[in-house]
Order: sequence, then C-alpha cells, then structure tokens
Amino acid sequence: MSTSGYIHSIDTFGSVDGPGIRYIIFTSGCLMRCQYCHNPDTWKMKDGIEKTTDKLVADIIRYKSYMLNTGGGVTISGGEPLLQPDFVYELINKLHTFNIPVAIDTCGFPNIDNLKHVVDAADLILLDIKSFDPETYKLVTSRELSNTLRFAEYLQQTNKRTWIRFVYVPNLTDAKENIEGLAKYLSTMTNVELVEVLPFHKMGEHKWELLGYDYKLKNTPIPTEKEIEFARDIFKRYGLKVQ
Ligand code: SF4
Repeated sequence: MSTSGYIHSIDTFGSVDGPGIRYIIFTSGCLMRCQYCHNPDTWKMKDGIEKTTDKLVADIIRYKSYMLNTGGGVTISGGEPLLQPDFVYELINKLHTFNIPVAIDTCGFPNIDNLKHVVDAADLILLDIKSFDPETYKLVTSRELSNTLRFAEYLQQTNKRTWIRFVYVPNLTDAKENIEGLAKYLSTMTNVELVEVLPFHKMGEHKWELLGYDYKLKNTPIPTEKEIEFARDIFKRYGLKVQ
C-alpha cells in the first residue's frame, strides 16, 4: 500500500527542525491561523501536490548517509502534518525499515485521542506552544489552547522525546507571566529535552499580501537579541535546556 499525502514543499538540507541535517517535508493543510504564520500558502490542503509514501521514501533514501552521519533524519512539518495521519503513520513506518528516524513538527491542535498511534511511532516531537495564556493563544492562533496542552500531557505520559518551540512576538506573546507560566508548566515534564525560543520575523508577509489576507503584524517590531535572551533566561531559570 502507498498512501498519498498533500505536500507543500521539501527541503533536503534542513538544519533547524530537529537535530542534525534533515530532510523536511512540509505538508499542506492547517486549521490554525497564526498571526505570524510565514507559510499561509500551506493552509489549504488541496493546494498541495499529492505524493505517495513510496515516492517520498525512494527520494529520501538517496540522502540517508549524510543525514545519519550528522545525527539527523526526516522531519514531517507543515502546515499541520497530523491532519493527514494515515499518510504520516505509513511514512514513519516505511522510513523505520531503513533505520531513518522521524520527527513530527506539530502545533498539537488536532485531537490526540485519534492520533496516539502516530505520535507513538515518531522518534521525536517538536511541539509548538504558541502561548501559555489562553486568551493570548486564542488571539495568536484563533484556536483554543486546551488541545495543545492535552497533547503535551500525552507526550509526558508516554515519555516521548519532545522539543518545545515558542515564538517570541513583541507586544503579543512577550508578557513575562506568559513565558514564566509556560516555563513552570514545562519544568515538571521529564520528556522535554529542549526549549527553542524563536524570534518573530516577517519573511512570510509578502505571501499574506499575495493571498489577499490581512497581515496584522505589519507594525510589530522584530525582537532584539536582548529580548530573546530575556525569554531564554526565564526558561533556564526553571531548569530547562534552551537552544
Ligand atoms: S500552526 Fe504553523 S502552519 Fe499553521 S497557521 Fe500556525 S504557524 Fe502557520
């Protein structure tokens, strides 16, 4: 069997979405509407190109040696990869037959109750927690925080290797209580290996304009190095390893 998935794009030499050099598959389809999304062209699943797991695996194994020599592997990102669970599950299992480790990059919004087998199959989860304050989360994403926290709790229960990603946006996610709340919440999770504080950037702004969407962060400044260090220090104070 070779299930098809909708793919937005592929990066055969990624270095920021998990350890080592990685083959990154950006899937199409997302139910979130993050104000800072730099890939709004991934939102509609049917805008992607259909590819079967067999086709992808045949391409991925060409890069196997340099990925594995750097401690890398494959990352399935998006969009939101867990909107295509059958495709992702099959792809992970096929890659495992070649001893290629697989990470999933998710916002944790899809219902974990239907996805446990997919999450269990992955070697690493990169979980994006957009905010810890529920109102800010709703403002940033237009969705509720509760699903993402349930997702995080499942990762903890199953002791799944997890990296957390938090995007620092001045005047939006930067409140000290917000960052501290997240740091405190994560500090009890022994499965969390790393926290990444990612600075807000505007590289996707032109895509919003091209698609006719209203980009609300036009006047939001890029964070300074000092601001990012301030956020990183909060996570460190709670005993978390920060990248
Ligand atoms: S979850 Fe990711 S792809 Fe979806 S809207 Fe947010 S930033 Fe964009």
